Amino acid sequence: MKFKPANKIQDLQYFGEFGGVNPSISDSSTYTFLSAKTMFDTFEGNTDGCYLYSRHSSPSNLYLGEALAAMEGTEAANVAGSGMGAITPTLLQLCGAGDHIVSSRTIYGGTYAFLKNFTPRMGIQTTFVDITKLAVVEAAITKNTKVLYCETVSNPLLEVADIKGLAVLAKKHNLKLVVDNTFSPLSISPAQLGADIVIHSLTKFINGASDTMGGVVCGTSEFVNSLKSVIDGASMLLGPSMDSLRAASILKNMRTLHIRMKQHSKNAAFLAEKFENDGLKTVYPGLKSHPSHDVFKSMMNEEYGYGGMLTIDAGSLDKANELMELMQEKNLGYLAVSLGFYKTLFSAPGTSTSSEIPEEEQKEMGLTDGLIRFSIGLDNDIERTYQMMKECMKKVGVL
Ligand SMILES: *Cc1c(COP(=O)(O)O)cnc(C)c1O
Repeated sequence: MKFKPANKIQDLQYFGEFGGVNPSISDSSTYTFLSAKTMFDTFEGNTDGCYLYSRHSSPSNLYLGEALAAMEGTEAANVAGSGMGAITPTLLQLCGAGDHIVSSRTIYGGTYAFLKNFTPRMGIQTTFVDITKLAVVEAAITKNTKVLYCETVSNPLLEVADIKGLAVLAKKHNLKLVVDNTFSPLSISPAQLGADIVIHSLTKFINGASDTMGGVVCGTSEFVNSLKSVIDGASMLLGPSMDSLRAASILKNMRTLHIRMKQHSKNAAFLAEKFENDGLKTVYPGLKSHPSHDVFKSMMNEEYGYGGMLTIDAGSLDKANELMELMQEKNLGYLAVSLGFYKTLFSAPGTSTSSEIPEEEQKEMGLTDGLIRFSIGLDNDIERTYQMMKECMKKVGVL
């Protein structure tokens, strides 16, 4: 049967303490025990139904985790205070000194910096590869490799990972396939395609309001519990915990995620097609010209489309900057990093979110100076938006 992620979210049922239609928020950092023996048992790891301390878990965080696990179809999930707060403990839980990671070279700048500059201090080495070439990925695997790491749709170049193919490689070499699915919630369900662990920055589409940060790790109960272990769990010990009030607000926003994703995708597909027809170098997984269009299509939950992210090449950094400033002035969106907001957001990744990547390497992966990354908003009248954007492009000489 087809996997229906939004149905899974809808089918969860919660009641608040006084019969509220929203679950009560547990506004507490610590929890009482009726007997001292229960406290001892809880510390020993028998935490069923008991709360200990909110860095470990809290009812509100568990509700949100449950909804995210349902969405990805995994046994369990653990939320964190940011996307990086989900990514870094996951990798540190899976790898120690002497271990090796094979990672896509086109990943979020923060993740790239963590793997390139930070984890070598702990004796963890990473080889960065073109994730779209399975033979290249396999050739990079060594006897020390523990993790295959990628983003479903990569930031900022929108390369698409063949999750099924990578899962086969991971099984064959006994690796964990860790997939950051931030750009494609609902559209693609990596765990259903064989990924072992699925991560999101909730800061982006899932919360969708640009008012908070958040992250989540979805996986087996065994792995999620290992992250939370009071003895040696990276999430428990490094402490990137989410606050309960935020967990409650993100859960509420998640209920409209399916409607929002459809609108983001519809608007982005409309603009991508128009821009391409106008002769702009446009990258969008929904375009037939996209090198991984068929791979995306073979993996997607069709009703959610190809996502809200697209890039165009304005030719040079100066033109890109001029265009973005003009579009902001015309209130077509904001010159800002991040994604998944109701308004369109645009930025030049080479000088912002991917600036951690050295210029030489940017060039090699096709990250040009004039690249503008768009997170297309929920605009009701996208035809009007297109006409106004076209005016801006003509004015600065991009068209
Ligand atoms: C934003 C982002 C992250 C990091 O998430 P934060 O919530 O900013 O910590 C990780 N991966 C991708 C793909 C992102 O876009």
